Amino acid sequence: MKVVVDPDICLGCGVCESIAPNIFILGDEVYAKVIMNPVPEQLRDVVEEAVSECPEEAISIIEDED
Ligand code: SF4
Repeated sequence: MKVVVDPDICLGCGVCESIAPNIFILGDEVYAKVIMNPVPEQLRDVVEEAVSECPEEAISIIEDED
């Protein structure tokens, strides 16, 4: 799967980074960036947690085509 953050919606709160710092990074930016793409299937649970905890619903999962 791929994970995307919509920079127009993201608040830069850092919740996703605190849940999955190996996938999301805030750094000096005002919005989160995804630093792991594609994201392996075994990390789906933590990605879904970030999706559900994001206060702005800025994180989307793009499923692989098969
Ligand atoms: S949790 Fe959502 S709003 Fe907060 S930094 Fe991550 S993507 Fe942005």
